[in-house]
Amino acid sequence: MQTHVSTPDIDADGRSDPKPPSAWLLTPGPLTTAASVKAAMLTDWGSWDDDFKLLTARLRSYLVELAGGDDDYDCVPIQGSGTYAVEAMIASFLPKDGKALVLINGAYGKRIAQTLDYLGRAYTVIDKGDYLPPRGEEVAAALAAEPAISHVIVVHCETSSGILNPLEEIAAATAAAGRKLLVDSMSAFGALPFNPADMPFEAMVSSANKCIEGVPGFGFVIAQKSALASAKGNSHSLSLDVHAQWDYMNKTGQWRFTPPTHVVAAFMQAIDLHEEEGGQPGRLARYVRNRDVLVDGMRNLGFETLLADRWLSPIIVTFFNPTDPNFAFQAFYDAMKAQGFIIYPGKLTVVDSFRIGCIGQLDEQVMRGVVAAAAKSLQQMGVASAVPPKAALDERAVLAG
Ligand SMILES: *Cc1c(COP(=O)(O)O)cnc(C)c1O
Repeated sequence: MQTHVSTPDIDADGRSDPKPPSAWLLTPGPLTTAASVKAAMLTDWGSWDDDFKLLTARLRSYLVELAGGDDDYDCVPIQGSGTYAVEAMIASFLPKDGKALVLINGAYGKRIAQTLDYLGRAYTVIDKGDYLPPRGEEVAAALAAEPAISHVIVVHCETSSGILNPLEEIAAATAAAGRKLLVDSMSAFGALPFNPADMPFEAMVSSANKCIEGVPGFGFVIAQKSALASAKGNSHSLSLDVHAQWDYMNKTGQWRFTPPTHVVAAFMQAIDLHEEEGGQPGRLARYVRNRDVLVDGMRNLGFETLLADRWLSPIIVTFFNPTDPNFAFQAFYDAMKAQGFIIYPGKLTVVDSFRIGCIGQLDEQVMRGVVAAAAKSLQQMGVASAVPPKAALDERAVLAG
């Protein structure tokens, strides 16, 4: 595949030029975007103009198709970052007298519970800690025990560890119990398969700056039209009311309040590139290659992944910090940045770790560069081996199955 970005400018000191930021972003959004996506933002659009309405209409229909949705589904874009769209979805689809079962195995699941606290909606949780997957049987048991639960809310790829949660078995357990499913597919949608035939859902949410590879500025909800229709009056919020945005958009072709016009224009270009790459399967194939090259290369240096292979997503990978006392994350981060690669700190509570993303306009060539830079960074720090503490590997064994 051809990436659409130039390599970072590195000056004589080996520092990447900070203006404009030109390092590769190995982060799960914002991420490295194509030059043509950035260039699409050089045009100004009137938000009420027919040309912009056409962009909005095309955006909505492409995303419904990408979600495997037929005529029974519709897409509603929402201004703001992904969290705004998650909050909008929950507030609009969980009725005020409903109750949610939130599946938690990381920061984004916790954020959903926190959102429900703000909203004052009833919920219960299954909390698996930092990285263990919530399983279908556990969901079935929780639903059988609590008839008041109306909705299950799950994170597709929990970006804090990078685990790919078993969405299909969770969706099956939810449907078998006659309950409804809301999915935060923020960091997975566009790269991982998503199909209501395989996993029935009432609504899901994602955003512009993850696997579609646009720039940040809006999220979108894809939902059953019947659920959108009956969501009227549920939301606590004027600006986050998905039903109201949907209704207005259907009537006028416009967003209710000022849309991020340049971001939408960039997103349309990102959609063209997504389509050109072969849609979801094409994108997934590149991300899988990225991950495999990264994980193989890092393991060769002695690094080890938090997750056993079965649970590794092609989105972002968590690596344990090495035991070597010369290793410090900040120094490693700085050494990587000096070579043109921005990595991501870890988000685990028990073991020290860092993360490297596989998404964005990156290919296996770039990932080989990441591994070479990691090797050089270790050398500069005087780290002889990147092997993690035995305790970390023992902890990982819990996940081997
Ligand atoms: C990125 C992300 C979000 C949204 O985060 P924002 O910072 O608001 O864009 C929500 N859930 C998951 C799983 C994510 O990866």
